Amino acid sequence: MHSHARYAQRMVRFTVLASGSKGNCSVVTGGSTRILVDAGLSCRELFRRMKLAGEDPATLDAIIVTHEHQDHINGLAVTARKLGIPVYFTEGTHRAWMRWLMPRRQMSYAQWIEQCRQQAAARQAEADAAEGEPDEAEIAVEAAEEPEAPAAAPAEPAEPMKDPTWLPAVEYFAAGEPFRIGDIAVSPFTIPHDAADPVGFVLEAEGVRMAVATDLGYMPPNVMAQLKALDLLMLESNHDLEMLRDGPYPWSVKQRVLSRVGHLSNDAASGFLEEEYDGQAAYVILGHLSESNNLPELARVAAERALANHASLLANRLLLAEQHEPLNAICF
Ligand SMILES: [Zn+2]
Ligand SMILES: [Zn+2]
Repeated sequence: MHSHARYAQRMVRFTVLASGSKGNCSVVTGGSTRILVDAGLSCRELFRRMKLAGEDPATLDAIIVTHEHQDHINGLAVTARKLGIPVYFTEGTHRAWMRWLMPRRQMSYAQWIEQCRQQAAARQAEADAAEGEPDEAEIAVEAAEEPEAPAAAPAEPAEPMKDPTWLPAVEYFAAGEPFRIGDIAVSPFTIPHDAADPVGFVLEAEGVRMAVATDLGYMPPNVMAQLKALDLLMLESNHDLEMLRDGPYPWSVKQRVLSRVGHLSNDAASGFLEEEYDGQAAYVILGHLSESNNLPELARVAAERALANHASLLANRLLLAEQHEPLNAICF
């Protein structure tokens, strides 16, 4: 009775719902499993785009999160709660996400200094009591760290209405440790980016390998090693260097984007495609394009040029992910 439905389910599909600094989200279907990679759109917009792309939100099984920046987690809690599905994080990302959501007590500088002094004194007392000599340097370093919100009273039972960090279920994974969600094998890998514990993913189902590698300041060897033997590669092509340099961002933000924990430029992306990429993916999707510091044509031309320098890579279909509308589903 279900044979027809089962047959229809045997498919691998990758749909970019949004990509860019205002929101990132993709849907990956493998066999009978469907997962969201990031939830950087409001739940309402996320569902709207899924329907536009011919995907049914009610069939989602899980959300996997690359990192805690707002453009990747904006609709996370609402979407997970509405669907009652688990969220997969690294522990560092989960903690950072919770810190982002929990309102902090505002403190004056004087209050902060006083709090640090008290914390250092408390640690010193603890260390003295414990035994041995306290490590003064360590205490000083800890005291200088960013102030934490005061410890909450013993946790009440988690309830969505009371606790903004409440989720139906949380699963932890670690970079370098592959895991499965239903029919999809997920391999998270560390990326260089200014978040708590950011990752990219290789997702594999029915022998089809798809990678998401956006939000990285440069292309380190461990990432290049992951981006091999793929059928689909979604690669960041964030900014044009000249546009960024001459563009509207304040100097500090320009420095952040350009840094080794910022974002991949068109030049860096095409440098990878030209020199390191094995050319095996049927689809290359350029993603996370900046609307302020890039033009789709600049990103496209740089990547096309890089691919054209390898005659063997011309079979690669090059697509540009959009910020404001979903791409057509890519089916394997
Ligand atoms: Zn981002
Ligand atoms: Zn980011």
